[in-house]
Amino acid sequence: MSKKQHLHTFLQHAGQADFDERTGAAPVALPSMRTSTVRFKSLDYLDQATKDRNSGGRSVIYGRAGMDTHRALEDVFCELEAGERAFLVPSGMAAITLGIMSFVSQGDHILAADCSYGPVRTLDRNVLQRMGIQTTYCAPNVEAFKAALQPNTKVLYVESPGSLLMQMLDMPALADFAKAHDLLLITDNTWGSGLIYQPLSLGADVSVVAGTKYVGGHSDLMLGAVIAKDKKTAEQIDACNYALGFSVSADDAWLALRGVRTMPLRMRETAANALQVCEALSQWAEVKTIYHPAWKGDKYHALWQRDATGSNGMLAFSLNVDAARARRFVDALTLFGIGFSWGGFESLVQLVDPNSIASHSYWANDEAVLIRLHIGLENAEDLIADLNQALAASA
Ligand SMILES: *Cc1c(COP(=O)(O)O)cnc(C)c1O
Repeated sequence: MSKKQHLHTFLQHAGQADFDERTGAAPVALPSMRTSTVRFKSLDYLDQATKDRNSGGRSVIYGRAGMDTHRALEDVFCELEAGERAFLVPSGMAAITLGIMSFVSQGDHILAADCSYGPVRTLDRNVLQRMGIQTTYCAPNVEAFKAALQPNTKVLYVESPGSLLMQMLDMPALADFAKAHDLLLITDNTWGSGLIYQPLSLGADVSVVAGTKYVGGHSDLMLGAVIAKDKKTAEQIDACNYALGFSVSADDAWLALRGVRTMPLRMRETAANALQVCEALSQWAEVKTIYHPAWKGDKYHALWQRDATGSNGMLAFSLNVDAARARRFVDALTLFGIGFSWGGFESLVQLVDPNSIASHSYWANDEAVLIRLHIGLENAEDLIADLNQALAASA
């Protein structure tokens, strides 16, 4: 893998299949290499693979780790995130679980950004607490984290921009803080997916990505990745991953590999569409705040300009309407599917449950309702027309 190439070029050539020795031909697209185990030509080959595996190498001795298809996708995640090693898991949530479980033990404390993906709190409540691991949620800035620091704090867990309100964090400042206090900085980079934001380059130690979203890009698979910045961190994740037994279907790895090749195009298009939608929403009297870091009016626009190299189709906005009208508005939309998730080709809308943002320090409680949109690859004018008609219909 050449570091000199542009990412877009790398993505088109990642995971090329070997030429057949007899025919000299190779498929353009790497096949999905399905297997539950590996067979070796001789015990010497098995010994060699085991030795490499035990010293942290990628050699495969059993099917759980996956073969060429998985390896190609791991290479893609490493290149995207500028990391040392990537581990594939069956969902974005599993990536969060693996990322955290690799680094905490009984009696440890986690500092977490209050804007983190909601189900992180479920992992905390249902699993981590049972294992004697405590978590404190803070406004995602150095002052608040410093105030909540404990002698047993081991991990700083953040997400930038944060889920729902797209709150951009000052990653380099958080990395300095983490370093000064010997904390491991784990960040959810599903938003950037390594293409438009690279937290490891900004100082984070571990990046977790829901490949389910922009990497897959076609709303047809669940996948996650944990990417380590250095060897030592990678070893710890490797040990935990092997013990937990996560495994990804070769077909899903194959779908993600196919999807990721067009991620730069999809991301660029959806980002441009989202900005047009922001422009239209800013004309509405009912809109209070637009949450989208690439939008000029966003509170963290300058931070986004400094640290990100692009944007995507995720945006939220608060509406000064009552709950009943908000429901009528969402129901009246025809091009936006009512549903969770994002990063696919299609536009989606979510009427955000007020309880899920009540604990976010960035949410001003005088804002009536919050609506989150994933802007897809439809024509922006059609999307805007749909939003406008739904607003009128809801009155
Ligand atoms: C969707 C999402 C996840 C979880 O991914 P799944 O594949 O759905 O488990 C994690 N983090 C963020 C920011 C997400 O949007």
